[in-house]
Parts: sequence; structure tokens; C-alpha cells
Amino acid sequence: MQAVVKPIAAPGLVLADVPQPVPGDGELLLRVAAASVCGTDVHIYDWNPWAAARVHPPRVIGHEICGEVVGRGPGADLPDGRRVAVESHIVCRQCNSCARGDFHVCPNTRILGVDVDGGFTSLVVVPQLNVFPISDDTTSEVAAALEPVGNAVHACSYGELAGRAVVVFGCGPIGCAAIAIARAEGAAAVIAVDRNRYRLELAERMGATSLVMADNNVEPSVRAAARGADIDCALEMSGAPSAVIAATRLVRPGGWISLLGIGDEPATLDLSNDVVMTGISLHGVVGRRLPQTWEATMEYVRSGAVDVSALITHHYAMSEIVAAIELIKSGHCGKVSLHPG
Ligand SMILES: [Zn+2]
Ligand SMILES: [Zn+2]
Repeated sequence: MQAVVKPIAAPGLVLADVPQPVPGDGELLLRVAAASVCGTDVHIYDWNPWAAARVHPPRVIGHEICGEVVGRGPGADLPDGRRVAVESHIVCRQCNSCARGDFHVCPNTRILGVDVDGGFTSLVVVPQLNVFPISDDTTSEVAAALEPVGNAVHACSYGELAGRAVVVFGCGPIGCAAIAIARAEGAAAVIAVDRNRYRLELAERMGATSLVMADNNVEPSVRAAARGADIDCALEMSGAPSAVIAATRLVRPGGWISLLGIGDEPATLDLSNDVVMTGISLHGVVGRRLPQTWEATMEYVRSGAVDVSALITHHYAMSEIVAAIELIKSGHCGKVSLHPG
């Protein structure tokens, strides 16, 4: 079968013939119905320092997928034909974190399409414990995008949003999903910050109540957008050190921040003045809580409170992966969906 493969430890991706995977104990064989492209895939394509340290080629990439069950190994029992969304983090279920139920911080996590072969192909093997059956009225492309939407749901879960003023730094697909979730939760104001006009327009379509072009003056601009109201919460999806610092200065005393963006550089915070003395809370957000975040994410979709399809702005065939990645690098897109072929 054809797959999108990182063939060697160098920049680029190729289409290559790979053997069909065989499901082992507790695993399902899925026929991939749809996938979507993530910033992680771009890092693997670029072969940045993170990818070079983590990924061991050859590797089939792709971790945001929806598939249909077409086979199973011993101990797996989900029937053929069931369509499922996939949790990309395969956790060990044996370590202390897993024993506590904190699967999302399992130190032995293996990521689909990063540490094990992924889903930019026609058939993929995943543990049955990593799949979440979806309803007939959820499209496969939306189901594939639930993994990053789940990141946003997780980031939004650390405090109250109803009636609150929220600032979201970084309006890529996860930031835009967070905007929609904050609105669904009844946030009074959602201020979207990005340096990319296209993404700010997407943020507006997803429900942002004001837009701030990120520049050297971001703090006064966000305060002006809040029109004198306290900012209760910041959702930091950009990873930019300047945004992390701005977040700590913008939230009101006692407010909270979810940090999900991963920066290329460490951020240096004035902890004494901007965290301790203001009594704010910082939450590191990784992956999705299993299964709580998935249950909440699917409920947002089922109820219609969050329109995930509005996040998906472009569609490509898997064979066009390089064009899809170049589009993402241009910044002129939301979530980019891939279909097999
Ligand atoms: Zn991803
Ligand atoms: Zn574990």
C-alpha cells in the first residue's frame, strides 16, 4: 500500500510502498477514511531539531485520523464497519502516571506517526483503547480533526469560562477551536491574538469577539479590546515567549492560564511579580485526558455547540502532502484535511 513516509533522517517526505500492518494483541486494523495535517507533521517534514531527536525513519507519518474498523488482533472486539476517531498518544498503562489515571502525562507515551507508524496511508493499526466510535452524522474529516480539537477542550478545562473574558494567543486550528469552545461555554468576551490576518479572520468566524494583531504593543491592544473588563483567563496556543509573558501580565489577579503552545525558545517569566504576587495559576496542557477530554469533545460536536467543520479550510489527497505542508507553512489555512489516494 502507498503511504506518506519519512524515508531517511533528512528534510522531506515521500510516497512509498509499505507492507500492510498486522494488528497484534488488543489492536484494531483501520481503513483510513480521512486524516488531517498537524504542525507536528510540518516539523517532521522540515526535520527540525525536535524531529531529528525523536523520529527514527523509515516512518509512516500522520496522527490525526478517522478510520473504519476492518480487522482486529486477539482481545480486540470492536466490529467491522465501526467508524472511529483516534487518540494519537499510545500510553503504557503500567507506569505511576497511568496508575493514577493521568494517562495524558504517561512518560512512556508513543505517538502515532511519530514513534510508531501512523495514518497517512490506507491501513493503520491502533490499540482498541485508543479509538472512540463516532456517530453517523459526524463526517470522517471532522472525526479526524477531533484530536487537535481535544487539545483545545483540554486547555479550556482548567477553569470557569462562563461570563468570563478570555484572551487566546495563537489562532491556528487549536486556538480557533479554543475560541469556539470558550464561546460555547458562555465566555462574555474572547479576544483573539495572532500576527496573521488570515488566522484572525478564521478566529472571527469561530466566534472571537475582538481581534488583535500581534505586534510589540500587544498588551495595551488586548487591554483596549477588553474595554476595561478584567481578563480572567489566557489560553496560550502560540508558544511565542512574548505571548507567554504577555499572558502573565494580562490576566487579572487570581486568574488562570493554560499553556499549550510549544516554543522554539524558553520563555523567561517574572515569577515573583507576575505570578506569585498576583496569585495566578499556570497550567501546562499536554494531549487529552483519557477518556474525559474525548467525551467532552464528542459532546461539543454531537450537540452542535462547536462547528469543527468550520475549522477545516482545505482538502488534499494524501499524495499531495507536500503541497498541503507548503500551504500550512504559508499560514493561509485553518485545518488541512487529507483524503486517501
Ligand atoms: Zn497533531
Ligand atoms: Zn504510562
